[in-house]
Amino acid sequence: MSATPKALAKYRDKLLALRAEILSQGDVSIEPSRSDPVAVGGDEDGQALSEMYQVIASRRNRVRTGDLGRIHAALKRLDENPDAFGLCSECGEPIGKRLELLPFVELCVECQQARDGSPKGPGRRHLRDFR
Ligand SMILES: [Zn+2]
Repeated sequence: MSATPKALAKYRDKLLALRAEILSQGDVSIEPSRSDPVAVGGDEDGQALSEMYQVIASRRNRVRTGDLGRIHAALKRLDENPDAFGLCSECGEPIGKRLELLPFVELCVECQQARDGSPKGPGRRHLRDFR
């Protein structure tokens, strides 16, 4: 059940395009918009706001860095072990459609959900323990 060379070439193209897209976005700028009513709020509010922007910016950077890492890893898997590309690294089943959208994922939907647990709300973190 390995992907055809044609499919692999398609995934490679997608990965390279994704990588180019992320890299083309450059660094995330930390810049409060000028129309913000913060100017009247005094230094303290301005300080708080700029800290908030920095938190948002660094979170965005983390996501981008994480995606880049996964894209690199996927390209490496594609080169080193093309037969296994597109198979879930946990259960070995084909990842299927999900790979069309996110060619860098390593897990099928089921394994990803099992790993993430339930993302909806607190208090359900141990849901997977009750299978
Ligand atoms: Zn799986």
